[in-house]
Amino acid sequence: MKREIYLDNSATTPLSEASRKKIYEMTEIYGNPSSLHSIGQSAEKTVAEARKIILSALGVRAREGELIFTSCGTEATALAILGSAHAKQRREALRILTSDSEHPSVKKNLEALEKEGFEIVRIPTKSGILDLDAIEASLDKKIFLASFMLVNNETGAVYKVGEAFSRIKSKYPEAITHCDAVQGFMKIPFTPAGLKADLVTVSGHKLHAPKGVGALYISADMIKKKKISPFLLGGGQEGGMRSGTENTIGIAAFGASVADISERAHKCRERFAELYSYASERISSLGIKINRPSGEYASHILNVTLPNIKSETVLHFLSADGVFVSSGSACSSHSSTPSGTLISFGLTPAQADCSLRISFSEYNTKEDVDALYESLKSALARLVRIKR
Ligand code: PLP
Repeated sequence: MKREIYLDNSATTPLSEASRKKIYEMTEIYGNPSSLHSIGQSAEKTVAEARKIILSALGVRAREGELIFTSCGTEATALAILGSAHAKQRREALRILTSDSEHPSVKKNLEALEKEGFEIVRIPTKSGILDLDAIEASLDKKIFLASFMLVNNETGAVYKVGEAFSRIKSKYPEAITHCDAVQGFMKIPFTPAGLKADLVTVSGHKLHAPKGVGALYISADMIKKKKISPFLLGGGQEGGMRSGTENTIGIAAFGASVADISERAHKCRERFAELYSYASERISSLGIKINRPSGEYASHILNVTLPNIKSETVLHFLSADGVFVSSGSACSSHSSTPSGTLISFGLTPAQADCSLRISFSEYNTKEDVDALYESLKSALARLVRIKR
């Protein structure tokens, strides 16, 4: 059998045993959670259980906020950004702060709002550091929303979102704060209250749950003050915030997966740190540059730049050898232009074009890194020869 060394876990993860087991159990629980009879209610119970598990993993205390299940992280972010823009009450406030290296799910929705007349201020993230002084300089009463990601999906940089939101809220408490925590949830410890975030996006398939499920945390204050409105209208599921019959199988598996990871989140972090430093050491010995952020970083994501060889070429070479990495985020693979995130990080367009993202899950081992090393070594020998 062909080997499969999967090192693209920031694109998506394989299902965990806990997830698989729950999916299998759920094949018997077919009710519609909105039905009042007992078959519907047993489905409702599984959704409620998953909600409780995820809220608890987020460290949300009773009545502090709600969790709204969606179809993915992208939908949760669209609800956060478009939902708060369309519920907007303060007419004079049109300024939105964001970083210059957000995932397209944030970036594209903000571009859409820009066309509607909002002013978007993009804060630099050179070397993976969110520029807090630039945030200070952009603060005035025009501020409406701030959206910053917790962990960058291409470089692993951890942005000081808590510090940024605290500065914003201390001066303008009515400003809305959204954090895309898709790459940070269950990887680094945080709570929405600790971040001073009104809205937090998470996604199941990055955490060994199936694709098709994400969630948005919404603070009780946002709901009470009607600062967010739904865009999927219909049967009023999810407290009216996201109509449509729930993906009960996906939601239950998301909950089971989060419960499973919660038991050993600390151990997973140790494993990531060990793999990150082992891989950095081995790969840099091949003359490959490690794009390590200057500040804090989440060690499940390692970004590297190859010596003058396009990442796409190496990626296909590795793939044929049974080693799977990415040439940027999965979404940027739909685009032929070099990653804007890596350019914001400080790479030249040519370097960005030669960069690979290696991303770990707790199932990866040092032997996987050894396989990557050997495969990269032969790719470099072969491809450099072809170039000459
Ligand atoms: N935000 C970040 C930082 C991501 O890395 C991703 C996916 O790669 C998303 C949002 C989108 O999540 P989903 O694939 O669940 O829509």
